[in-house]
Amino acid sequence: MEKVKATFLLHALGDGLGEYPHLREDKKPIPPTDDTVMTLALLEVLVEERKHNPQRVAQKYLSYLREGILKKVGYTTLEALKKFEKTQNWFYSGIACKRCAGNGVAMRISPLGVWAYLRNLPLEEFFETVRAEGYITHRNELAISGAFAVAYAVYLNLKENLPKEETVKRVLLTMEHLGMENPVKEAVENALNLKGLDGKDALRRLGSGGYIVETIGAVFYLFLSQEDFLEGLDLLLEVGGDTDTVGAIFGSLYGSLHGLKNIPENLISRLEVKEKIEQLTEKLFSHFHP
Ligand SMILES: [Mg+2]
Repeated sequence: MEKVKATFLLHALGDGLGEYPHLREDKKPIPPTDDTVMTLALLEVLVEERKHNPQRVAQKYLSYLREGILKKVGYTTLEALKKFEKTQNWFYSGIACKRCAGNGVAMRISPLGVWAYLRNLPLEEFFETVRAEGYITHRNELAISGAFAVAYAVYLNLKENLPKEETVKRVLLTMEHLGMENPVKEAVENALNLKGLDGKDALRRLGSGGYIVETIGAVFYLFLSQEDFLEGLDLLLEVGGDTDTVGAIFGSLYGSLHGLKNIPENLISRLEVKEKIEQLTEKLFSHFHP
């Protein structure tokens, strides 16, 4: 359970410090951005429904948006939620377009990696669950592939606890098996091949923007090359890009493998969502180990 908690806590920390780097040395609370708000909304539905119910997830995203809890969402997510408001049908709400290969699914997907681990989901069901979640906002295969790569890495970390390179190689094999011969898979391969390079050079080569191919390259590179989460975050902040989202996803990969290793308690205790994460994780576990 500690590594599951750490998956979400470091997601929130990477998100918060990626968006507000000055809070690292401050004493103020560290707020979440959209990445963590949506991640916890998805986790909440899994806890409440005891299954992935995309209609309920879409309703929760929309109500958080309308209540102002969910702010500054990406363009594709915003358009999709407006569409959902009209149709009330999650299956038709996702936006299909070439430019919709954003990181808006990958940034909220870690609960499904945890879910697949706890439920021991077969691969086909795992993949279809990720796809359904993705389609709420992004009807785009690259966005779905990127989300799957993240969820599968979280799942493997929790289930197998393998050396990082081994995990990433297994992510690649599974992507190949599922027919994901696309730029997202190439980005994971590139991250593996650039592991020895100087950190800033490698991140600049991979990119660290909101395009899912760049996000995935950056996240997997950071996961593979960085032993210390905060040093990895510093490197990311030096290079720039979509630092809250890349930081958040890096956090979920790091936390699912290492737990809270080397993370000062005063950072975790300043996370605004700390209690919420602890409560939701404990409820989730109580379903499986009553
Ligand atoms: Mg954000």
